[in-house]
Amino acid sequence: MNAVPTSSEPHVMPTYGRLPVALSHGQGCWVWDTDGRRLLDGLGGIAVNTLGHNHPRLVPALQDQIAKLIHTSNYYRIPLQEQLAAKLCELSGLANVFFCNSGLEANEAAIKIARKFGHDRGIEAPEIMVFEGAFHGRSIATLSATANPKIQAGFGPLVPGFVRVPLNDILAVETAVAEHPGLTAIFLETIQGEGGINPARVEFLQALRRICDERNLLLMLDEVQCGVGRTGKWFAHQWAGIKPDVMPLAKGLGSGVPIGAVICGPRAADVLKAGNHGTTFGGNPLAMRAGFETLTIMEEDGLLANAEAVGATLRGALAEGLAGEAGVVEIRGQGLMLGVELDRPAGALLGQALDAGLLLSITADRVVRLLPPLILTHDEARQIAAILVPLIKAFVAQPKP
Ligand SMILES: *Cc1c(COP(=O)(O)O)cnc(C)c1O
Repeated sequence: MNAVPTSSEPHVMPTYGRLPVALSHGQGCWVWDTDGRRLLDGLGGIAVNTLGHNHPRLVPALQDQIAKLIHTSNYYRIPLQEQLAAKLCELSGLANVFFCNSGLEANEAAIKIARKFGHDRGIEAPEIMVFEGAFHGRSIATLSATANPKIQAGFGPLVPGFVRVPLNDILAVETAVAEHPGLTAIFLETIQGEGGINPARVEFLQALRRICDERNLLLMLDEVQCGVGRTGKWFAHQWAGIKPDVMPLAKGLGSGVPIGAVICGPRAADVLKAGNHGTTFGGNPLAMRAGFETLTIMEEDGLLANAEAVGATLRGALAEGLAGEAGVVEIRGQGLMLGVELDRPAGALLGQALDAGLLLSITADRVVRLLPPLILTHDEARQIAAILVPLIKAFVAQPKP
């Protein structure tokens, strides 16, 4: 199996290398392809399907909402928006929320907040610190903040105003802060996703919090992938006992209904005023209902504790099965956001896993990434490992290319 677009789809722009399979329906952590084959979902639509597929409480809630109102525009108050915003502020300890429709939009809003925060203080050309290995999206501004040259190639000129330093290198951060008086924000993923499941260390996050407080900078944590319960806390930075000033969210927040959000603490909450930012779809009743029901069901069903416990089972089973394999560089991540770094490009494993009945992703070329629904059971975690371990073993047993 190889991940190339087929010529039988001439009317879809060939921006993705797709596997030659189409899915027809799902139930829980399982999906079926159009040939009736059952597959275990270790990908969750890239950390989106928090509640799996066809969730017995989410689906009727969305059906109810569709019959009431899907969209109204932000010309009017949207009670569900106020309700979800209050919930997100309660869970994060932050102050207010701007809603949009995707991760890159949430990051665009964060970048606008960082720039206006600077302009409000008389800084003519505000700069934002970003990191090696970062992924923030594919709009022109967010791909400029992203570190991957493959994502940037062909789309220059890039947006200026980003200062890049290595992750987890506090000395490099301090040097850059000293050298860039126009800096207004430090912007990073709490755990890098596309970059290969690279966590910002707890001490690093705490040091960034201190630097931002001392220098009056905004700490902006992109939790589009690692947030919303995936690591076993509502937000991954909560493991470090800190709070950001700005936190973009998206992926898992709507369990598959498109949604994005930027949550701001007191330092950033008043930066954007009426007329400074907006979106037609953002915050519509359907997306807000999806977000609110997702968080409610997560709370009622203890899905944070489940992500932590089942994540430990999955990680343990992978560590045990792959112990002593020279081709396995590292197993890392937290909760149900896990990466297995191999010593070689691993793209071929995508099709092999599909053939073996498992959905997953390969990121940063050599990292096998698992982002299953947070309803995953211990038994399903062991099934993922039972499929994946022999595949990886056979793969790294081949001569290195
Ligand atoms: C996926 C992702 C984005 C972009 O989200 P889209 O919804 O695809 O625009 C931004 N930041 C991080 C950390 C992501 O994982």
